[in-house]
Amino acid sequence: MTTIASNLQAVRNAIAKAAAVAGRVPDDIALLAVSKTFPPAAMREAYHAGQTAFGESYAQEALEKIVALHDLPIEWHFIGPVQSNKTRAIAENFVWVHSVDRLKIAERLSAQRPQNLPPLNVCMQVNVSGEDSKSGVAPDEVAGLAQAVARLPQLRLRGLMAIPAPSDDVATQRLPFAQLRQLRDKLNSQGLALDTLSMGMSHDFAAAIVEGATMVRVGSAIFGLRDYGGK
Ligand SMILES: *Cc1c(COP(=O)(O)O)cnc(C)c1O
Repeated sequence: MTTIASNLQAVRNAIAKAAAVAGRVPDDIALLAVSKTFPPAAMREAYHAGQTAFGESYAQEALEKIVALHDLPIEWHFIGPVQSNKTRAIAENFVWVHSVDRLKIAERLSAQRPQNLPPLNVCMQVNVSGEDSKSGVAPDEVAGLAQAVARLPQLRLRGLMAIPAPSDDVATQRLPFAQLRQLRDKLNSQGLALDTLSMGMSHDFAAAIVEGATMVRVGSAIFGLRDYGGK
């Protein structure tokens, strides 16, 4: 087995273990392999070890990989900040966008999603408590944005995404994930039908699974440490 294949197996085992702790079925938790900064060859290796869903954060880098890997039926997820001038390329080339946090961006994605493709699956990125990033909609603004996004014809609002501040303490890790789950439940009680909680990364996916994650986004635990090379 290659390193990537054995890392993938270890992550799958850890997902199954966390699911068992939470009394959940492992099949209800999708693994998104976050491949940003890693070359197509590494992704090919992961694909041949059974991984089909990949997450990318930078549009230009992702588009180059989509060309390089066009022979593989990969499910492409965009998980980085969405810039206005990249919405068309994202709407045309991805199946999911996890990081919608402004109506203007959602409207552009919907308008630019080709009519011959199914609606683009989207999650709204929420800036949950303790997060230092500028990305994400504030929790008290989620409901308004969700109702507006849900009305856009070429988008399918699937759920919520968050990137909480890192912590080594599992109890602390769980708090923002619980907050995101409660937000999702509240939106569903207001008439939406959100089935996705995109939460948990290499260092905290077990805590996210205990709090209800349906999709974990795992990069370094699969591919190794990233070298941003000044990015
Ligand atoms: C890079 C990234 C990840 C993966 O992070 P790891 O710590 O390498 O698992 C997950 N989600 C988002 C939005 C990212 O940008």
